[in-house]
Amino acid sequence: MKVNRRTFLSVSAMAGAATAMPHSVAAAVAMPEPAMPARLRLSCQEGVAPGNSLKEKLDFLEEHGFEGFEPGGGGLPKRVEELQKALEGRKIKISAICAGFEGVPVSDKEEERQKAIQTSKEILTAAGALGSTGMIIVPAFNGQTKLGHWESREMLLKILPELADHAVQAKTRLLLEPLNRREAHFLRQVADGAAICQDANHPGVCLMGDFWHMTWEEPSDMAAFIAGAKYLHHVHIASRKNRQMPGEDPGDNYVNGMKGLKVIGYQDYISLECGSKGDRKVTIPAAAKLIRDNWAEA
Ligand code: MG
Repeated sequence: MKVNRRTFLSVSAMAGAATAMPHSVAAAVAMPEPAMPARLRLSCQEGVAPGNSLKEKLDFLEEHGFEGFEPGGGGLPKRVEELQKALEGRKIKISAICAGFEGVPVSDKEEERQKAIQTSKEILTAAGALGSTGMIIVPAFNGQTKLGHWESREMLLKILPELADHAVQAKTRLLLEPLNRREAHFLRQVADGAAICQDANHPGVCLMGDFWHMTWEEPSDMAAFIAGAKYLHHVHIASRKNRQMPGEDPGDNYVNGMKGLKVIGYQDYISLECGSKGDRKVTIPAAAKLIRDNWAEA
């Protein structure tokens, strides 16, 4: 073929389209409509929000359109009344509860496992009283268990029913959190977590995704969230390279994952779990704008 300028342009356009294919799977594959359109509900961890008191933190977050507040699970059983009072008459609600249990759920030591089960039950009771979407659980950080991958998985499935029964009685759920390999070898991908939820087959065993960990472990954020669809009830967000405020690393972008959340009709929260290089009173509203803009684009 003799390539003149016109055919050269159309050939390079085709080549460009072919290269872009993997990123435009959504356009090429007809995605089913979710039962309910997804909605964006921003949340922020207690330790991330600026303010010297619970009231100041909640005032700040409400002022910037946040709908969820994520406290840590440590000491939560003693804080139920304090939090209930602080939330009275406000639009903002408790989103997830971030871990805070003692012991290790998939420890090789019975004593450590029992400690995790007992302290998690206390936190689950408090989480339910606060109307939380769920309590986040990491089965084991690196170095916390001598069990290998397969034994950890078997152990997790063995202890989940007791915890999940308690969660459902308390009117909440467990949220398994996949981490990146520097923090945990067992449970690194959202789809793996979904497979564990599928095996557990219990309404109290659910899942979350964290954009920070997903940066390192997921070939596609969109595919990860779609794989987790049935069980996904919480999302964490941070900047993609240094776990600072979204927008503080160059090129921070969450559109691909948000496309997945839209496909599954996600109804729960996206919660800030991150540091910040700048003044949080400035960086949090900027992050909220970036997240809203990415959501609109997805
Ligand atoms: Mg997280």
